[in-house]
Amino acid sequence: PASIFAAVEMAPRDPILGLNEAFAADTRAEKVNLGVGVYYDDNGKIPLLAAVRAAEKARLEAQPPRGYQPIEGLAAYNGAVQNLLFGKDSALIANGQVITVEALGGTGALKVGADYLKRLLPGATVYISDPSWENHRALFESAGFPVETYPYYDAATRGVNFAGLKARLESLAPGSVVVLHACCHNPTGADLSDAQWNEVVDACRSRGLVPFLDMAYQGFADGIAADAVAVRAFSTSGLQFFVSSSFSKSFSLYGERVGALSIVTAGKDESARVLSQVKRVVRTNYSNPPTHGGAVVAAVLNSPELRQQWEDELAGMRERIRAMRTGLVEQLKAAGVAQDFSFVIKQRGMFSYTGLTAAQVEKLKSDFGIYAVSTGRICLAALNSKNIGYVAKAIAAVVKV
Ligand code: PLP
Repeated sequence: PASIFAAVEMAPRDPILGLNEAFAADTRAEKVNLGVGVYYDDNGKIPLLAAVRAAEKARLEAQPPRGYQPIEGLAAYNGAVQNLLFGKDSALIANGQVITVEALGGTGALKVGADYLKRLLPGATVYISDPSWENHRALFESAGFPVETYPYYDAATRGVNFAGLKARLESLAPGSVVVLHACCHNPTGADLSDAQWNEVVDACRSRGLVPFLDMAYQGFADGIAADAVAVRAFSTSGLQFFVSSSFSKSFSLYGERVGALSIVTAGKDESARVLSQVKRVVRTNYSNPPTHGGAVVAAVLNSPELRQQWEDELAGMRERIRAMRTGLVEQLKAAGVAQDFSFVIKQRGMFSYTGLTAAQVEKLKSDFGIYAVSTGRICLAALNSKNIGYVAKAIAAVVKV
């Protein structure tokens, strides 16, 4: 009999994975992969943070049994997440208005949130920024939502088309879900100002929208508290909202899959009911989260010494990316590039929309072994003191022709 899989079609390849495969196959010694979405240190390696190493060592020595976690994960972890996002003196936390479940990275948090929202608001449309992290659309579509975009990036100013964004929000149907990058917008590096966040909050309130903040890079722009500006702006709004957060980048724990979904409700009683429903979503997906990553993050965040060490290491990552931004702009200038690239310094987080065209990106690859996404997005954290000069000269060569 014919195989039940005989008619299965090949799914489209993930564009970034395709890039990584091509990079791996490239034999040029000077090759550089700017297409990645992870932080590399100055040696081109993914760091294992000293604070993480210390917490892991203690955990290994304690040899804890590997029982199941509660469905919502580790209480010490969820509490630490709330403090980072909302601030430890948050009235919302004190009032019992925040529920948090440990999730499998930021992606897992988005997925649990999306699945729960589909039960809560089955007829809603989800709006994501144009452009957005490439998985947002597929993720919300896979939860059953129609997904549309709101204007975001303005190529002319290399900043946010805020008038367009605001006008779109003000035209949406009440109950629409709006996914917002809380900081370090991926892929553009263009963020809203504090004042603009307040306007977004007002628009969400006046239109009855459901904000879903995605916080994947807390601490990569200006610092832990400063980068929570969007969460804090919504916190004082009286609105209900969702926050997905991730420690993949800020703890350099990508493969451990450590994230969280937090939901702000109108009160303690509502929180209990909402949590009970979110737990059903988790229970029927993966039952409960894995132990290790969350235990390590909780140990770091709940120890004053390790927390300080982590904050210092996070600052080190943030400052190294900033130095690469400044260095790239200076070296492009030194290489005789007339075009003004100073916008790269103003962009925030790991990425920059460089404005390089698909043809220029292709030429970087063919002539120099430098790989980037065809949209011109580059990861600044893939630059280091050894390759930055080579990359600047190559970009200069492709933009000057
Ligand atoms: N959201 C955004 C905007 C991201 O850029 C990423 C990761 O690249 C994620 C979510 C997913 O994070 P995680 O790797 O923790 O699932």
